[in-house]
Amino acid sequence: MNEQLPSYPTAYSVEDFLSNLAAVRQRIAAACARVARDPAEVRLLPVSKTVTEERIRLAYAAGCHELGENKVQEASRKAEAMADLSDLRWSVIGHLQTNKAKVVARFASEFQALDSLRAAEALDRRLQAEGRGLDVLVQVNTSGEPSKFGLAPTEVADFLQALPAFSALRVRGLMTLARLSADPARVRPCFALLRELRERLRQQAPAGIGLEQLSMGMSGDFELAIEEGATVVRVGQAIFGARATPDGHYWPDHQSPATSAQQEHEA
Ligand SMILES: *Cc1c(COP(=O)(O)O)cnc(C)c1O
Repeated sequence: MNEQLPSYPTAYSVEDFLSNLAAVRQRIAAACARVARDPAEVRLLPVSKTVTEERIRLAYAAGCHELGENKVQEASRKAEAMADLSDLRWSVIGHLQTNKAKVVARFASEFQALDSLRAAEALDRRLQAEGRGLDVLVQVNTSGEPSKFGLAPTEVADFLQALPAFSALRVRGLMTLARLSADPARVRPCFALLRELRERLRQQAPAGIGLEQLSMGMSGDFELAIEEGATVVRVGQAIFGARATPDGHYWPDHQSPATSAQQEHEA
């Protein structure tokens, strides 16, 4: 799958980061132009999973003051190590095991992968204890792949009705991972489905539950996502460089059931 993607140059200096960021912003602008959108409507969330502290600090110097991380442990370790960068914000974009809710409540400013009432309850309880609030997005499984995290599209309406009970969670919208494919005809429908779902649910969402944000699109597919209405794109490799770690380490992949079993097992 990876060999079908463009190659992503690894950034080793502030200049490298500036150049990769400029290339990504240019791709964002071009996608926006195709559908007459304002690039200012699209938030670029750099994803720093697997990247060392040293290189993250270079990215910060190049202007990345907000970072997405897939795994809670990795994210909290980095947040602690870089606490001196006081305006650096962390967004957790991967599945949450409820026993890690306490950690997320302490350091994260956003959680993009809410997909169960158990997680909502655990996060809310920990946030109340910390006296904090958290921006959250509800993750939806738009590809229908059984091993992917996220609610089924048909479950989202009822789920949203339950969320006002968790007053520390500021619900901002929906998030999805498209099918991993180089074929736009297989990827685009995932993004379109999230947008259509949002339009449908907007009318009936409870008071205080915002659905403005659509987080969708990564290095290989963010142009399609923007064309379908993304307001947040989560971009790792196109900014930091190609990742050696197989994606199966971060997402369950039903071509390798062993990997998803291992991921569930990880504490
Ligand atoms: C890693 C990751 C991304 C970014 O993927 P890239 O290919 O590095 O752009 C986006 N979203 C989630 C949930 C991720 O885990």
